[in-house]
Amino acid sequence: MTTQKEQIGQATFTATDDPAAGATVQPEMHQEPQHEEDVPKDEMHIPHPSADELFDCTIIGGGPTGLYAAFYAGMREMSVKIIDSLAELGGQVSALYPEKHIFDVAGFAKVLGKELVAECIEQGLQFGPTVCLGEKVEHLEKHEDGTFTLQTDRGQHRTKTIIIAAGVGAFTPRKLPDMDHIDALEGKSLYYFVKSFEPFRDQRVLIVGGGDSAMDWAMALEPLAKSVTLIHRRDRWRAHDSSVSKVLNSAVNVHTFHEVKSVEHDGERVSAVTIFDNRSNHELPLAIDQIILSLGFIANIGPIKEWNLEIEKGGVKVDSTMQTNIPGIFAAGDIARYVGKLNLIATGFGEAATAANYAKTHIDPSAKAFPGHSSDKEV
Ligand code: FAD
Repeated sequence: MTTQKEQIGQATFTATDDPAAGATVQPEMHQEPQHEEDVPKDEMHIPHPSADELFDCTIIGGGPTGLYAAFYAGMREMSVKIIDSLAELGGQVSALYPEKHIFDVAGFAKVLGKELVAECIEQGLQFGPTVCLGEKVEHLEKHEDGTFTLQTDRGQHRTKTIIIAAGVGAFTPRKLPDMDHIDALEGKSLYYFVKSFEPFRDQRVLIVGGGDSAMDWAMALEPLAKSVTLIHRRDRWRAHDSSVSKVLNSAVNVHTFHEVKSVEHDGERVSAVTIFDNRSNHELPLAIDQIILSLGFIANIGPIKEWNLEIEKGGVKVDSTMQTNIPGIFAAGDIARYVGKLNLIATGFGEAATAANYAKTHIDPSAKAFPGHSSDKEV
């Protein structure tokens, strides 16, 4: 079992293959398949099984690669499900660098991470895949008829093919150490992502963290919350200087060298948080209604390594069709390994297209791998 700090660009996260690391924390979100009226392709016949039925293609990972695979598999008229352990789509881009510009995605001279994710989501979900968020895939079972069951921490998913687009592993938000008792507050008065500002209106909010997300949320909530306090355990920030100076010049109460000592709650709501100065141990009690933890992520590839897939350099070995050593299981994006592999969004997109088109031929051997040109279709 290995656990180590990984650095990708300026982002640091902890990578581990400990299957027990980082329990899923956000509430499950199932987006039921959108039906005919939402799928603007009149002549297409995409089956839409209900969530627990057999899907043509299940994509593990909703990062850029998984979303593009969902688009392609949808265009090939496959029923598609995306499962991601995070509460948000977008993979590393959403979790680690939504505010950074990306310069090497074809078709965009320059694009913000969060804008690229928004485009990938619009494209990837246009054929109405089922999306299961906050759900970590843990076990794989292969059946005699060639289909698979994926077991997650929340249930089972049946599928004819799998595209593993799991990047550097399942992302889960990092929690406060030795504070399991606050898990019960998740989604009520403890958050790891801010998806809606409403729960924070007129509330006393504590944000823990020193990265861009912490700064962005502090600035966004400052006008509508009763108060916003931001604490960080150092005086060096991971966030951009411009974001930090905005926060320092706002009404946000900033305490550097401070950490959470204890949280008082009734099992539903937080009432108070005591923070302490990690240099002097001086404690400061705060009346707090809502806590946002923005402490980074743990990436856990652990479970996938136990599925009898051929593992190479920490990833999943594939052939030139992106198929793994198990027929019907494909891999694409950062998790896929082959000679000459580059871990880039651009290569992930190409691999996703290949994986989805060969997944189509796996379930329908009479289908051509080449999809035809989308410009020839009414897409
Ligand atoms: P990811 O984005 O990692 O998404 C994988 C998803 O799968 C995650 O959401 C994860 O939670 C989920 N997952 C994994 N395992 C499971 C499981 N068992 N169950 C459920 N869900 C699971 N690339 C570029 O091309 N250009 C750049 O400028 C660039 N800049 C970068 C800057 C930074 C700071 C970082 C960190 C990376 C950068 N990259 C860049 C790399 C790029 O982000 C990755 O190559 C890309 O995100 C890979 O996409 P992916 O979809 O394969 O994997």
